[in-house]
Amino acid sequence: MDFSLSEEHEMIRQAARDFAQNELLPGVIERDENQIFPKEQIKKLGELGFMGMMTDPEYNGSGMDTLSYVIAMEELSKVDASTSVVVSVNNSLVCWGLETFGSKEHKEKYLSRLASGEIIGAFCLSEPEAGSDATSQKTTAIDHGDHYILNGTKNWITNGGTAEVYLVIAQTDREKGHKGINALIVEKGMPGFEIGPKENKLGIRGSDTHSLNFNDVKVPKENRIGDDGFGFKFAMKTLSGGRIGIAAQALGIAAGAYELALKYSKERKAFGTEIANHQAIAFKLADMHTQIEAARHLVYKAAWDKDQGKNYDLSGAMAKLYASQVAMETSVEAVQIHGGNGFVKEYHVERLMRDAKITQIYEGTSEIQKIVISRSILRN
Ligand SMILES: Cc1cc2nc3c(=O)[nH]c(=O)nc-3n(C[C@H](O)[C@H](O)[C@H](O)COP(=O)(O)OP(=O)(O)OC[C@H]3O[C@@H](n4cnc5c(N)ncnc54)[C@H](O)[C@@H]3O)c2cc1C
Repeated sequence: MDFSLSEEHEMIRQAARDFAQNELLPGVIERDENQIFPKEQIKKLGELGFMGMMTDPEYNGSGMDTLSYVIAMEELSKVDASTSVVVSVNNSLVCWGLETFGSKEHKEKYLSRLASGEIIGAFCLSEPEAGSDATSQKTTAIDHGDHYILNGTKNWITNGGTAEVYLVIAQTDREKGHKGINALIVEKGMPGFEIGPKENKLGIRGSDTHSLNFNDVKVPKENRIGDDGFGFKFAMKTLSGGRIGIAAQALGIAAGAYELALKYSKERKAFGTEIANHQAIAFKLADMHTQIEAARHLVYKAAWDKDQGKNYDLSGAMAKLYASQVAMETSVEAVQIHGGNGFVKEYHVERLMRDAKITQIYEGTSEIQKIVISRSILRN
């Protein structure tokens, strides 16, 4: 067994860390407060190869492994989870989904531009009445020979307003249940495709979350991903890998909050000494450090499973469940260690605490991860 990272992985960590400090930290409070999408930052991340990290260089990707992606997500998320969610959706849902299951034409037409960061993509599964219960799709894609007619509403779509390419899950044949669902590539500007207002959120406020409406949108049949009826499987397989990215986001939020709390505890004095010298604070730091290290092992293990070609449904779900819990607990404690300063924006930890919450909700809530985990262990 070898727990050390390769030189290449360490270089990726340093590059992502430098980017986070130099490009994300300035303005992160303002973007959060005013819900400003990190447009310039995403453009630069594309130029540096972070928007299609795992995609083959043939399609303008960086050709890296999942561990590299996870390390980058961790570092970016320490500073700005609103930016890292854009990176995550584009990399592990859109690019990976298209590269793994799309046709050659899909890859040439869409993947090359998505992986370079020239454009970004969105993954559209959730609906007003189909969140955790994703099989209850109300959006329909009715077969009309050489095209589908798409009707319905998608909710909570990350990159909803800024994406150019949308992977939309819809029901074609209700009688076939989840085997009658398809995944279609929809382009911004297709007649009948409307983007709803931006959501006003608790956290990851710089990210761009919208509902989407489809009113008789004509989608060519060649825009279907995989065979007829493959859509639900496409969504589940893609989300299984996506969860590793969100687990890494949660890990980064936890680590970012911890690092700030550690620094503050060595500077702030109370009762004549630095607060780190009070055992109540030192023990909090000990718990945080231990939990973060445990979460990191779970997240890296899930990435390693994926890179080894092993099944990662269980390890990815465990990583997301635990890392998101650690993100929540650690960020709350980081606010506590900062005292009153933790409650104001300048010290960053209140934002990390608000951002942490979403990691327990999207790409499968914690309750859904427990369903995945328990089914997996009971099956074996
Ligand atoms: C900021 C943000 C960004 C998002 N981005 C995207 C995106 O890009 N694409 C996309 O498709 N979706 C996206 N989502 C949607 C997200 O994935 C869903 O909100 C999530 O899956 C939960 O679905 P829901 O909101 O309908 O909650 P519900 O499914 O209604 O769940 C409500 C509660 O009930 C619990 N619950 C439900 N079923 C069970 C069960 N069987 N057992 C135990 N507990 C259960 C849940 O865990 C939760 O606590 C995003 C959401 C947010 C808030």
